[in-house]
Amino acid sequence: MNLSKFPKIELHLHLDGSVRPSTVSNILNLNKKDVEKEMIVDTSCNDLNDYLTKFDLPLTILQTKNNLIKVSEELANDLKKDGIIYAEIRFAPILHTNNGLSCEEVIEAVIEGISMVDIKINLIICLMRNVSEEDNYKVINAGLKYINNKVVGFDLAGAEAIYKTSNFKELFKYISKYNIPFTIHAGEADGIDSIKSAIEFGAKRIGHGVRIMDDVNMIKYAKDNNITFEVCPTSNIDTKIYKEYKEHAIKKMYENNLNITINTDNRTVSNITLTEEYNKLINIFNFSLEDIKNMNITAINASFISDIDKENLKQEYILKYNKFIKNGENNE
Ligand SMILES: [Zn+2]
Repeated sequence: MNLSKFPKIELHLHLDGSVRPSTVSNILNLNKKDVEKEMIVDTSCNDLNDYLTKFDLPLTILQTKNNLIKVSEELANDLKKDGIIYAEIRFAPILHTNNGLSCEEVIEAVIEGISMVDIKINLIICLMRNVSEEDNYKVINAGLKYINNKVVGFDLAGAEAIYKTSNFKELFKYISKYNIPFTIHAGEADGIDSIKSAIEFGAKRIGHGVRIMDDVNMIKYAKDNNITFEVCPTSNIDTKIYKEYKEHAIKKMYENNLNITINTDNRTVSNITLTEEYNKLINIFNFSLEDIKNMNITAINASFISDIDKENLKQEYILKYNKFIKNGENNE
């Protein structure tokens, strides 16, 4: 089914994992095939730590204002082409400061890039598990300056199995003082305890969180706290949480009435679009278009925008969804 025009909301998407390989090869004057090999996972990827090495090359170019603007604009265009009507793109400013940019300059460059395209996009600022506490506070304070100017929330990313979620309690206490919503990558490379810590800290959303299905009590805890899961199926296959797509917990999560949203995580690293991800869900798990619509409405409800903006976005979404259904086969 051609779902490129099916309206989509995407909440979990990393800028540095979604850089066009052609852009990296042009800027670094490298062979495109070699660059693709460095940036896209293959079957030799064993786990999240392996997966994260795919960000090394794109990060070498994302150290200047111009390249950040260019890559952000390109990603916004890619999202538009994929039928996205609202996205929250995330990135870790500290990873772009190697050549002297300040965190503020990094954030401003990304804002400039996405603003060049006619599509609704907001930004989530990632703290990193493997950097110093001092650097993470620096990032939070930089991010706070752009709240209501595209920045809508925070996240914690990086090697979850090595740097435990429970170590970051104080950082999220600090963010909570400002009443800014946040999501945390949890229950991806690590288990139930990581999800529990994230919810206790006050996360409204969990990045991945698929290991929730290991514990019925946690399922109840997540529901009681109205937690939304940013599920990224293909990425989970790449990091070997599941051997095959059909083993993924997505259907069980949906049937357990958890709040589920569908995302790509990293369009380049996982070599996937949301259109392709929806098709996999429909073909492998028998999800209906109505199910996918429901997940998009869940995504709107869990987005980090104001209640009025959510209502407007919902109306826009339903209009576009009805138009898609009405056009049927003509959506090609
Ligand atoms: Zn992620």
